[in-house]
Amino acid sequence: MKSNATLGARSRSRLIALNGRIRACRKCHDAGLLDERESIPIARDPEADAPLPRILLIGQAPGLRATLHDRPFAGAAGEKLRDWLEQGGIPRKDFYRQVHFAAITRCYPGRLPGAKGDRVPSPQEQALCRPWLDDLIKTLEPQVVLLVGLLAIRTFLGPVASLTAVVGTSTVRDRMCYLPLPHPSGVSRWLNEPANLAAVARAMEILRSWH
Ligand code: SF4
Repeated sequence: MKSNATLGARSRSRLIALNGRIRACRKCHDAGLLDERESIPIARDPEADAPLPRILLIGQAPGLRATLHDRPFAGAAGEKLRDWLEQGGIPRKDFYRQVHFAAITRCYPGRLPGAKGDRVPSPQEQALCRPWLDDLIKTLEPQVVLLVGLLAIRTFLGPVASLTAVVGTSTVRDRMCYLPLPHPSGVSRWLNEPANLAAVARAMEILRSWH
């Protein structure tokens, strides 16, 4: 029988190999959906001296800052997310060690013309990128999957009506706990409501109970 250490080392090397294939991916560029000058895949390897993360965060797509710094949630939204996860039992210093970051699509989609935010990846981009996500879940076998934002939530939990309907609840499937969260960006007015912040706090209590 293989030891846990052997199995862990095998999963780590499979994850690093998968990340390499994601970083080399140009499916959307080849299909004319993305411009390689501004959009390249983001897939960070796990920290070398840390156990393999058992928490997987799935967002919509990397932002421009994450692409430039090769580090997701590097800005103000990341600070808020670190605050939340600290309530969920993940110390700030372990943010990048205990959480593995992924997204529905792994390339920055660019700005939405004439609007403040980034473009939502098209259904075609989502479909092209989905096999990477499925492979990642099989490789990492996370205990908890944090679904950040409605696109990630609906991709995994179906056509939920709103953030209010699901934040603070959890869904256990295939021994994984799916936890919906809003995006922590200051752009979201949803977070101005005290009742919604209480729902985020409930989600963090659930996270704490799973690890
Ligand atoms: S969004 Fe996904 S499928 Fe498309 S090029 Fe980037 S990594 Fe590849």
